Amino acid sequence: MATPAGSGTLARVTDASMPLRAKVASTVSRTAAALSRAAGRGDGSVIGGWIGLKIDPDLLSHLATGRRIALISGTNGKTTTTRFTAAAISVRGRVATNSFGANMPTGHTSALAKAGATAFAVLEVDEHYLPQVMTAVHPEVVALLNLSRDQLDRAKEVAMMADLWRQALQREPAVRVVANADDPMVVWAASTARHVTWFSAGQRWTDDSWVCPACGAHIRRGEDGMADNDWACAGCDLRRPDPQWTVEDDGVIADDGRWHQVRLQLPGRVNVGNAATALAVAAAFGVRPEHAAPPLAAVASIAGRYAVVDRHGRRVRLLLAKNPASWLEAFEMADDAPTLLAINARDPDGLDTSWLYDVDFAPLRGRDVIISGDRAYDLAVRLDVNEVPFRHVPLFADIVRAVPPGPLEVIANYTAFQDIRAELDRVV
Ligand SMILES: [Zn+2]
Repeated sequence: MATPAGSGTLARVTDASMPLRAKVASTVSRTAAALSRAAGRGDGSVIGGWIGLKIDPDLLSHLATGRRIALISGTNGKTTTTRFTAAAISVRGRVATNSFGANMPTGHTSALAKAGATAFAVLEVDEHYLPQVMTAVHPEVVALLNLSRDQLDRAKEVAMMADLWRQALQREPAVRVVANADDPMVVWAASTARHVTWFSAGQRWTDDSWVCPACGAHIRRGEDGMADNDWACAGCDLRRPDPQWTVEDDGVIADDGRWHQVRLQLPGRVNVGNAATALAVAAAFGVRPEHAAPPLAAVASIAGRYAVVDRHGRRVRLLLAKNPASWLEAFEMADDAPTLLAINARDPDGLDTSWLYDVDFAPLRGRDVIISGDRAYDLAVRLDVNEVPFRHVPLFADIVRAVPPGPLEVIANYTAFQDIRAELDRVV
């Protein structure tokens, strides 16, 4: 179904198949979102979707009808992978997507209502909502990226999450799953699916998968005779499947064995991994890597993440890191340059900062490290224990002046990141 988006055929199909209540709900949802935007209250996707779903609880299902849909879920990388996937598939027609990261059903409803008729939709889904959204939209493809502790969720909860995914996939046998072969939790979750394409993007974080989710035995890694990224359960037959898509140098080996260079503006091997996932999903929609890869180079920043801003000759680059696995990734992305670490512990961040002890800050030794944020003192204690020298500079305007002209890497958790974005608007 290569119908170009907005074409008469698809628009007619979508409208005709929608009950009156759904049409009204969809219109009201779009209007509410537009009013919210006009009032300067964000992009309005949450409120618009919320109102639409109040009028018609099945609105998301109605809006999904007639579209080919991919859902992208996991603890880390889903916003970037969603953006890459939407860019890759857009070579075949318009794609509806929740590009502002509103990744719950209200956000999905709003994104589909706003986009109007499109042949395709690529939706980022909060991992807790994946089963519910799968039931509502009957996706063609589901991409499972990774599962790790987020805020203070512990390993037990990670395994529970994997089990929810497992059950959801069992209920949707037709769905094609694109899943991470390097993450034992994801492999176990995907093992109930009938059609799985495995990718390997390299997994730095392994602290949430020491124990097999299937049998409780330990997961073997790095033993004699095992390849670097291989793993296998010591007690049952859960083991790393052979991936069809792998990252190799600055490119991706596709399922036909051919290597494709991936040129990205976003930094780090992690993002090449996200690109590999996006290319595997695009291939499931019939877009081969030679067509799907070039649009990825146009993605420059995502809701401020990876944005580079010049201030007083300092090239400030913003990296968001919200849980231990993503801090490790950020250290890998950041260049060897003065580095600001900013930590808050407000509601969206999680109130407990003990996760700082899950992160090894040793890669920052030898860099000029500056700390700030509401919980800079927690970070100070952690860095001291980790033997990483640092300076505490509370105000962002002072931080910019405290480093020489050139690059300044900023790694911050959620609300600290938002604070710094706001500050950057002021530092002129
Ligand atoms: Zn096992």
